[in-house]
Amino acid sequence: MCGSLENRVVDSRSADEGRAIRRRRLCANCDLRFTTFERLEEQTLSVVKRDGRTEPFDPAKVEVGIRSACKGRPVGADAITQLVAEVEEGIRAHGPTVESARVGALALERLRPLDGVAAVRFASVYKGFEGPEDFEEELRLLGIDSPTPLD
Ligand SMILES: [Zn+2]
Repeated sequence: MCGSLENRVVDSRSADEGRAIRRRRLCANCDLRFTTFERLEEQTLSVVKRDGRTEPFDPAKVEVGIRSACKGRPVGADAITQLVAEVEEGIRAHGPTVESARVGALALERLRPLDGVAAVRFASVYKGFEGPEDFEEELRLLGIDSPTPLD
């Protein structure tokens, strides 16, 4: 290729089951024929982690966290799939870059009405609970009275 940006499209057709367009092009400078693919670009979502690093949003990670919090709890696989999809939608609404704390908050918000125990488990991991007062706060958010302190 000569590197010229001047070219004309000589043929266009649908590719990849309609998700892309394949174009045959002819360089106006050297007559080289070449092919380009145009693909619809989905906006990539990024998550800023607590240490400041950014990584692409991975719904599978949210699912693993939710699944582990729901272990042995009466929360169905469909409900978890739905929850993860809603979290992704929520992130997209805030996106394209969100903090990991928001990802956790969005998931927790949706987990609370599904199962209180799973919500507390999830919160303890993602919020990094350090003491009983953290659990009490989470129970308060669930509308459950904290147990009377034993001291
Ligand atoms: Zn050329």
